[in-house]
Amino acid sequence: MPEDQWLEVGPGVFQRRYEPLDVSIGVVLGTTGATVVDTRNNPKEGQEILADVTQRFHLPVVAVINTHAHYDHTFGNQVFHDAGIAIYGHHLIPKHFQNYEAPHLKKVQEQPETEPDKEWGEVVLTAPSRLIDQECTLDLGGREIQLVPLSAGHTDTDLAIYVPDASVWFLGDIVEESGPPMFGSGAHPLGWPEVLKELLTRIEPSHTVIPGHGKPISREFVAEQQQLFGLLAKHIRHGYEQGTAPEQMSFPSVLRQLWPEDFLREATIDGYAQLGD
Ligand SMILES: [Zn+2]
Repeated sequence: MPEDQWLEVGPGVFQRRYEPLDVSIGVVLGTTGATVVDTRNNPKEGQEILADVTQRFHLPVVAVINTHAHYDHTFGNQVFHDAGIAIYGHHLIPKHFQNYEAPHLKKVQEQPETEPDKEWGEVVLTAPSRLIDQECTLDLGGREIQLVPLSAGHTDTDLAIYVPDASVWFLGDIVEESGPPMFGSGAHPLGWPEVLKELLTRIEPSHTVIPGHGKPISREFVAEQQQLFGLLAKHIRHGYEQGTAPEQMSFPSVLRQLWPEDFLREATIDGYAQLGD
């Protein structure tokens, strides 16, 4: 029998890491149906999730939740939408799509040679059908799932998902384990440390946290990343006050250990844009 790719991260809660991009897909099993967290890069990959989940868990998929707007988490949405499955997501996703994902998708569909790694030919941008603008607890397929819209951090569309009876969080790319957290496409590096700080008041040491990319992590890992984001924000503010150009910024080694130079520059540009608002 082939190795089971689904890791049970809490009772009836699973994570599977899909390539490309090592995207975390979550499954929360209820008594009557399964809820899927995120949908990968295109309809073909979304279809693969739907088939894998149905085959492995023998339950219908009754809901999808998007952790945020970025393409590697939402471009498979149309498959679920076409199957009549409700899709939940942060209420600002349609606006984010309009500002970032739609122009990017259009450019790649018109000139696929510019980003040959993207298989976006069949993508139809599909926003969540159920927009979440305040914290709520839903009964999905006979299981309680909490949705917590976050203030702007990785994006302005981040949604934390918590399964109370399993003590498992899905945090999307507000934390990453297999690579450094990414900026650009509407990132808010100055708001990010506050978002994590707020979350840390709710995440307990016994809880399991699933990042958008990478293996399950502990509260401690989140706390460490929060510290680094705090330090990064401090440096960006200082640079802005001093009038330092983004490419002239120098960052302490503890930050350069997590983020490559170009990421730090991107964070600085995003942060300056926020400060200039
Ligand atoms: Zn991602």
